[in-house]
Amino acid sequence: MDRNGVDATSIGNFRKATLIYAGALALIATLSMITHVMVDAIVQRQEATARVVNVSGRQRMLSQRIAMMALELSRTDAQIQNAAGAELAAAIDLMDSSHRALQEGSKELGISPDKSPAISAVYNAGPHRLNARVTAYLEQARGYLALSPQERPASAYLAEIQTAAHGPILQALDAAVKQYEADSEEAIRQLRRILLSLVGMMLATLGAEAIFIFRPLFRKLESAHMKLLDAARTDPLTGCMNRRYLMEAAAREMARIKRSGSTLAVLMIDIDHFKHINDAHGHAVGDEALLTLVRILIANIRASDMLGRIGGEEFAVILPDTSPETALQVAEKLRESIAAAVVKGDGLSFSMTASIGLAELKADETDFLTALERADKALYKAKQSGRNRVEVFTADLAAIEGKGF
Ligand code: GH3
Ligand code: MG
Ligand code: MG
Repeated sequence: MDRNGVDATSIGNFRKATLIYAGALALIATLSMITHVMVDAIVQRQEATARVVNVSGRQRMLSQRIAMMALELSRTDAQIQNAAGAELAAAIDLMDSSHRALQEGSKELGISPDKSPAISAVYNAGPHRLNARVTAYLEQARGYLALSPQERPASAYLAEIQTAAHGPILQALDAAVKQYEADSEEAIRQLRRILLSLVGMMLATLGAEAIFIFRPLFRKLESAHMKLLDAARTDPLTGCMNRRYLMEAAAREMARIKRSGSTLAVLMIDIDHFKHINDAHGHAVGDEALLTLVRILIANIRASDMLGRIGGEEFAVILPDTSPETALQVAEKLRESIAAAVVKGDGLSFSMTASIGLAELKADETDFLTALERADKALYKAKQSGRNRVEVFTADLAAIEGKGF
């Protein structure tokens, strides 16, 4: 970490996560675009099929109309021969041009020249041979139309047209329509499968994002938040509560004892002649003495007790639900343990002592600051009475000038 507490590796990790996140977004954007194109392709495919099926259906209708008109033309009397002939010619031309459009493609009708092998087979081979049949059918119709009205009723063309119209050409045209539809359904099925896998890929990408990007990111945030919270609450040298957090914890404890009606004891602990330790051995050894003191305090108090550093080498211990007698025993034990401990640092070892002031606070009494001030006054008395002592706050100490909190 640098001076500002910014970790170079976490910045690197964050950049990496951001890059991965941007990559995942780009992937989703690409997949969305492909999906859009696929949906568009499905729609276009359906429209194209609709057009082809429509023209093919019209071919079927035209073939029937040509046959009907041919029959009509064999019976119609002379006056309307010309009009009926023109109508037959128009039907033949339309069927011819539509056939070419289906065969070669037509921009105007929006028909593509591409054909699947199955459609090509319907057009050029097998039982249907649609291409040849339509060509032959149109030739027969044109041949028939070229005959004179007298020749028409008995012409072979008429018989051939009628046979084809009710049999092979009709079946071939039906087969083409069916094949177009089947091809289109298969293509749409394939597009749908691709679409489904695209959606699956998008969901998988989102899931992977949640697992591999957001979860670690939130964990990092959470741990950074916890570290910050911890830093705001603890004393950096000793790791115990700092003054502010101890005061907050004490206020909560006060509210609790007010509800439960129990008592609370406060110890104020101050190392004797600490200035001398610093002066004689240096500040680093002085720090070591503070760490030793905290270790002793933690080892001798309960988990429910609270320890905080409230000044340079002054510590307060809050003992909830503790009677004055027990608190005094705890204070004595702490004093003895401090005096018995050996501080090691910078190649030397020495011992130290501490003075302790004790105050008790009942549920109906004022606030925690009062308890702290009382303990401080008792501590002052302990210092005055020769140090390495525990003094209990009594009413006669109230007048003493403490250092104030
Ligand atoms: P007394 O017995 O009357 O308490 O004497 P004392 O020398 O301990 O006096 P006092 O409590 O006033 O001294 C506090 C000293 O603690 C002054 C300061 O240099 C030292 N000090 C405060 N914070 C730190 C710290 O974090 N590390 C070190 N090494 N020394 C500290
Ligand atoms: Mg001191
Ligand atoms: Mg002091």
